[in-house]
Amino acid sequence: MGLIPYKNEPYVDWSDEANVEAMRSALEEVGASLRRDYPLVIGGKKVDTDGEIVSVNPANPSQVVGRVAAATEREADMALETASGAFESWSRTEPEARARIMLRAAAIMRRRRFEILAWHVYEGAPPWAEADAQLAEAIDFLEYYAREMLRLKDGVEIYAVPGEESRYFYQPMGVGVVIAPWNFPVAILTGMSSAALVTGNTVILKPSEFTSVLGAKLMEVYEEAGVPPGVVNFVPGYGGEIGDYLVTDARTRFISFTGSVKTGLRINELAARQIERQRWIKRTIVETGGKDAMVIDDSADLDAAAADIVASAYGYSGQKCSAASRAILHADVHDEVLQRVLEKARALKLGAPAEDGVDVSMGPVISEPQFEKVSSYIDVGKSEGERLLGEDPGDPEKGYFVPPTIFEVEPRSRVAQEEIFGPVLSVIEARDFDDALRIANDNPYGLTGGVYSKNRGHLEQARREFNAGNVYFNRKITGALVGVQPFGGFGMSGTDSKAGGPDYLPLHMLAKTVVERF
Ligand code: NAD
Repeated sequence: MGLIPYKNEPYVDWSDEANVEAMRSALEEVGASLRRDYPLVIGGKKVDTDGEIVSVNPANPSQVVGRVAAATEREADMALETASGAFESWSRTEPEARARIMLRAAAIMRRRRFEILAWHVYEGAPPWAEADAQLAEAIDFLEYYAREMLRLKDGVEIYAVPGEESRYFYQPMGVGVVIAPWNFPVAILTGMSSAALVTGNTVILKPSEFTSVLGAKLMEVYEEAGVPPGVVNFVPGYGGEIGDYLVTDARTRFISFTGSVKTGLRINELAARQIERQRWIKRTIVETGGKDAMVIDDSADLDAAAADIVASAYGYSGQKCSAASRAILHADVHDEVLQRVLEKARALKLGAPAEDGVDVSMGPVISEPQFEKVSSYIDVGKSEGERLLGEDPGDPEKGYFVPPTIFEVEPRSRVAQEEIFGPVLSVIEARDFDDALRIANDNPYGLTGGVYSKNRGHLEQARREFNAGNVYFNRKITGALVGVQPFGGFGMSGTDSKAGGPDYLPLHMLAKTVVERF
């Protein structure tokens, strides 16, 4: 197949007034299409249910974005049956044909770019540039996994003994249940599902209950791209209601999950049990939370370090699994870095991205439960250390806004140990570089981490010793690029599946060895 070499999708240039205008009109058009109903899609047919998910704009919770049918066990059963049937033909569809469909989905996303961005800005309330980075990431996943499938379609080279031929190749697994979080409702849902599809599996697509309209939009893209009926089935619903059923069922071959560690562990546990008629050990791909640290050494470029701490801590209101939630500052530069971080964090513009436009640098948090959780951690932080920035969040009925917040705390305090998943940064002072690295590693998570230093010895030490799946030097720690910074965590952060990397697709396939003696 002749394809241009892979490269990351460029971002929209928001300094170009034509793009700002295009986004404004997309917001207007999408704004006129809110409050619609979205059914399930099983075997290509629209299916209504008794339950519904009412999705709202987090910046304006009285504004309904859409009503999405919520699956019950009955529909989950239908979807599993349909996906099992569709596996027969999809698993035998040529890998090239599957890859082409992914490339077409990428092209559709490019064409619908501003429209999908507008839906995201209403449903998840990220700043425009954050929504755009996610859409670019989704396109990257489709383009990259299509090429990866072409690389792997004939298997990989192995050795043979004289007189024999040995082949090592991959085959699809079966029905995959893809369960996504709300914080990357476009990128992660696309990434997990496209990897499962391009490798020849059929999919139950279960978006987060907070971003199910975006899930419906991805389903539209897949349908338009030509994914055959039943190969991908749109089954939104409440995790607590259908999650266990989907994970436990004997027809489920694997589960690809991204979300909280609590849910991830439950999925792992349920998937491990064999039930009646189950004929395989289920595979789980589980990526979870983080408590990511940036270490600032005494030799660092302090202004760049401060800027990247602020970008990593407050991009999408700290609701990235990769977000910096701990800044560990060498004692000799502590005061100066802190001063600069405070200045830059104070300059962030908090607002409602759908109404206030391209200049908003931080929107609200996603939902009322998340607002309550972050607010209660702010109370914990006040009792554990000194609040250097931020005030108590306001009335959630006016939007789930939480101001950028900074605490100076001890390394073992709860706000410095537990995942808060909001715009709350814990600043910790370290005696020296060894102490800083020790503090960074003293946490059960191990997703991302960063070091700002000009000391080669310290960077080499961190390269070896920083216990995280993605470690970045002298730059921000968020925004991993597909194909460039494969992403996945150590420790309680996950099974280190490295999305967007060369080892990812084989997790969705069975490797087969066939040997013939001549
Ligand atoms: P969550 O665990 O609450 O929900 C994730 C998904 O699981 C949702 O679709 C939910 O409906 C579903 N679910 C809930 N209960 C279930 C059950 N019993 N069985 C099956 N599915 C169930 O997480 P969230 O709040 O949506 O997402 C935020 C979390 O995701 C954070 O911890 C964040 O760090 C993590 N995250 C990790 C990565 C990564 O790559 N490691 C990326 C993004 C987000």
